[in-house]
Amino acid sequence: MAATQLIKDPATRGLIRLIGGPGTGKTSLLVDAAAAHLAAGAHPESVLLLCPTARAAVRTRRALSTALTSGGGPAVIREPLVRTLHSYAFAILRLAARRTGDPPPRLITGTEQDGVIRELLAGDLEDGPDATVAWPESLRPALTTAGFATQLRDLLARCTERGVDGRRLQRIGRLSGRPEWVAAGQFAQQYEQVMLLRAASGRAAPQATAPALGAAELVGAALEAFATDPGLLAAERDRIGVLLVDDAQHLDPQAARLVGAMSSGTAVTVVAGDPNQTVFGFRGAEPALLTGDGGQVVALTQSHRCAPAVARAVSGVAARLPGRAKGRVIEGSGTDQGGSVAVRLAASAHAEAALIADALRRAHLVDGVPWSQMAVIVRSLPRAAAVLPRALAAAGVSVRAPAAITSPADHPAVRALLTVLTAATDGLDGERALTLVTGPIGRIDPVSLRGLRRSLRHQDPENPRQFGDLLVDALTGETLRLPAAHAAALRRVRAVVAAAARCVRDDPRYALWQAWNRSGLQRRWLQARARGGLVAAQADRDLDAVTALFGIADDYVDHTSGATVRGLVEAVCTLRLAPPEREPLIEPDTVAIVSAHAALGREWDVVVIAGLQEGLWPNTVPRGGVLATQQLVDVLEGVADAASRRAPVLADERRLLVSALGRARRKVLITAVDSEADDAGVPSVFVDELMQLADDGDADAVPVAAPRVLAPAALVGRLRAVVCSPEDAVDEDRRGCAATQLARLAAAGVPGADPAGWYGTRAVSTEQPLLDHGGAPVTLSPSTVQTIADCPLRWVLERHGGTDGRDLRSSLGSVLHALIADDGKTEALLVDLLEKIWDDLPFDSQWYSRNELARHRAMLSAFCQWRAQTRLELTEVGTEVDVDGVLASPEEGLPDVRVRGRIDRLERDNEGRQVVVDVKTSKNPASKDDAQRHAQLAMYQLAVAGGLVPGGAHPGGGRLVYLGKPGIVERDQDALTPDARREWQQVVHRAAAATAGPAFLARINDSCGHCPVRSSCPAQEPRS
Ligand code: SF4
Repeated sequence: MAATQLIKDPATRGLIRLIGGPGTGKTSLLVDAAAAHLAAGAHPESVLLLCPTARAAVRTRRALSTALTSGGGPAVIREPLVRTLHSYAFAILRLAARRTGDPPPRLITGTEQDGVIRELLAGDLEDGPDATVAWPESLRPALTTAGFATQLRDLLARCTERGVDGRRLQRIGRLSGRPEWVAAGQFAQQYEQVMLLRAASGRAAPQATAPALGAAELVGAALEAFATDPGLLAAERDRIGVLLVDDAQHLDPQAARLVGAMSSGTAVTVVAGDPNQTVFGFRGAEPALLTGDGGQVVALTQSHRCAPAVARAVSGVAARLPGRAKGRVIEGSGTDQGGSVAVRLAASAHAEAALIADALRRAHLVDGVPWSQMAVIVRSLPRAAAVLPRALAAAGVSVRAPAAITSPADHPAVRALLTVLTAATDGLDGERALTLVTGPIGRIDPVSLRGLRRSLRHQDPENPRQFGDLLVDALTGETLRLPAAHAAALRRVRAVVAAAARCVRDDPRYALWQAWNRSGLQRRWLQARARGGLVAAQADRDLDAVTALFGIADDYVDHTSGATVRGLVEAVCTLRLAPPEREPLIEPDTVAIVSAHAALGREWDVVVIAGLQEGLWPNTVPRGGVLATQQLVDVLEGVADAASRRAPVLADERRLLVSALGRARRKVLITAVDSEADDAGVPSVFVDELMQLADDGDADAVPVAAPRVLAPAALVGRLRAVVCSPEDAVDEDRRGCAATQLARLAAAGVPGADPAGWYGTRAVSTEQPLLDHGGAPVTLSPSTVQTIADCPLRWVLERHGGTDGRDLRSSLGSVLHALIADDGKTEALLVDLLEKIWDDLPFDSQWYSRNELARHRAMLSAFCQWRAQTRLELTEVGTEVDVDGVLASPEEGLPDVRVRGRIDRLERDNEGRQVVVDVKTSKNPASKDDAQRHAQLAMYQLAVAGGLVPGGAHPGGGRLVYLGKPGIVERDQDALTPDARREWQQVVHRAAAATAGPAFLARINDSCGHCPVRSSCPAQEPRS
């Protein structure tokens, strides 16, 4: 009888180990075996098929349903035929609880466990030397971090899987000289007691449960239930006649014991898997069930999934694994045509993304492979997620970005409610107040916020304070006279915080409910939902987030004795929710980017294995972090020295590569960066090996710097480069061919292919002036004249949106000018005022903020010095002096000019003339000659001469005072002479005429380096 028939034959008895490489049909055979037993009359509840993950169980269940319905099998089944081992263990515990009359078991998620662990660790830290757990001094700084809690949970799980309790862990720690394991053992005992206490405190309640169990404890508890209740084990052995286990290489020793306990009573047990794909060694998985003694061994060698080329690569990589496990060699199906394995090296990460994009697009466009049948498999998903999805999408690949692990507290609605609870317990501070008024409760937008800031500051102009402090006062103090919109927002926030504060000592859920109820957000979002469109979708997400928050609050209160509002906020903030892993009914038509572990059990036509870099894949860094979990597992398994420890990790990484290669049906592309400029750009040892196994093994292994991508933008660019090449630079036939292809693309509507849209090929759209002043004066500020004089193009572009409104430099300049405008203030007072407003400025980094603060303090000091030094020759007339008046045109054809501006300081000299002073914060003073030609100063002098400035019409020159250099630098402009006045009139009135255009010259000048429109400037284009 053929091996496969043996498994499907209902008459087969005993234990069968079914071993086979990727795609050899192990799962299909198990499904067929289950269907055959049922068709032969086996009771549905006597067949149990165990899968490694919930996702795999869904897929297998679907396949079995199809097999059963098409074969006329039973339509209704009470017990699930297909389930995960953990789900089966949970069912056993429920059964055991029913038999003893105990409360039902309860599962605790990894994040919940982390929460409990973090609480206990915080307690240990607080208790210091008196703590029950003696954490080594070197670990104490890490105790409060989320990462440490997760590592500790992992270590405890590995121990549970191997039946190591807290006491034994302490003993192992002492014998191995590992104080961290001793402490972890003490912690394990403490954790167990706390979990028992938690359950006991709620046992009287109708919803009381047994102690909450983590995934690792579930299987151990089921084994314990079998041990303490032999009747339960006997009943299960009687019930299950056919036990089928898929992917048994992923089982840890404890799970293997559970399978062993059941299999001793079954008629037939089939344990299927591939020891060469044991990739969860770091989680304790072992292929012992597959490689053990006894029973029949059936080895499958024909892969029904992989093409011959792919199968050769899988076998080649697997052949180098240590040991002699079966199933290393597989044969592909079909012919060599259509299947391939290729390796490509790129000179940079960007080039690697381009290589991948090109391969995926060619497979889609040329070979007709749907996007959903392609995947990119990487070793580190967070690393790939930062670059790949965006690069692929930009090249026109339909790609699904990997979902990120998030915290519920990141959602704005949840954050707002948590902030209300925090404010209710710990009071308001500036940051919380700002979060609340700008969040969904206050709903103040950035523009209104600026208005509110102004209004609050005007309430008490003599006492400038931080905005956050003013906001706290406004929310907690007496009602202020504010514009209606601002007042309403503050009232809302105040009412919600007060509502939560009233029941802050009750059940945390009441406080949360009060805040939610008083916020009015429910009504608002339900109305938004009814409107449809994007607003409704957002409202849906908001409502979902708040519903989830109430769910978390419910769980928290149910499972925490002495639950508090503050504890609830902390619990939500520390939660990290991984995206739900569901098997979609319809696979979206996008390329998947998945980690090698997440790719297990799936398959695609085309697979790209990306990022095979040294240190990344294989990643031989010992697992387990600061608690050395991997070393502990090695000690438990008798592996002692460091050299042997690296070997199992390396083998795990190789098995991961075998598994990744085996996901492909037809084509595999392996990519890596090989760059001399980058230390991280070294291909891993696997790349060399795969090159030997690739179809084009002799191909040139030179890294590609700029791969061609079969994407519209790249193709159009290449064709345009040929068409527009200088004469004789390209063959005319080639040029003609490129032009034909461009014409085809243009006809198909591909952007950029039609020459009608190319830069420089179209006629000027109009020769008409930009403006028609109609004889009215042209309004100009003196600084505008300076800009037009320096570069007319910059002026017109800046005037029409080419400035960055959030430019920090101009904000800083305004702050300094506002401070020095007040002449009554001493240097100490000015510096004090500067420091008070400094934190409101939008700096990106602390170090820059500190540097700038020091520089501005120095500038204030320099200004005060200059002011003191010049009082013998100058007398202040005014600061921030507004100028607004019309200068008549000196000649026909030139427009009158309305001057509008503000002089920093207007002084009177000893001859009674007015001197214009302009204070500069720049670090680069103008030269003496440039100061004489300074249009801004000259225009103010013209305004003085024209009688537009209070205090007389006798210009006494201008001064540029530079504070940005160490010391003070002053540059002077002479007083206007009649000739100079005539010349400057020409300059100013011509500049006014020039504002109408239609041509604006790009004139290179000293300020080009800071020009905000430099990227649009034709004068800055690189010259060939
Ligand atoms: S970069 Fe220089 S020349 Fe170009 S627009 Fe700006 S200021 Fe004018």
